[in-house]
Amino acid sequence: MSARILVVEDDLLNRMFYHEVLESRGYDVTLVADGALVLDEVKRISPDLITMDIQLPHISGLRLIRKLREDAVTRDIPIIAITAFAGRGEQEKAMAAGANGYLSKPVTVDRLSNSIRQALETNGHAIG
Ligand code: MN
Repeated sequence: MSARILVVEDDLLNRMFYHEVLESRGYDVTLVADGALVLDEVKRISPDLITMDIQLPHISGLRLIRKLREDAVTRDIPIIAITAFAGRGEQEKAMAAGANGYLSKPVTVDRLSNSIRQALETNGHAIG
């Protein structure tokens, strides 16, 4: 069974990019644009991994990661944080919030698929 990935991203073009890349690698992809819907959507589909844009309207991705980590049901889902700004401070904030991995934009096909594969393997999930 292919791994189920929940992509949280408010930018349409980025969502389309992640969708195309991840589906072409055989993942089962669900897209969420609105941060307010993330917690319900995570519980509904039980993703094997979440990619979390940090810069979202209304609620920050860091706050969503903290909330997911506080809930026993969602605590162990691997999360890759994606930020618009490169830099040590951004990465440290994401990891401190509970992210398992970190990517700065622009996200390339290789960096995205490598970090997802790595996070899934670390969690004992079969590739694809
Ligand atoms: Mn954004």
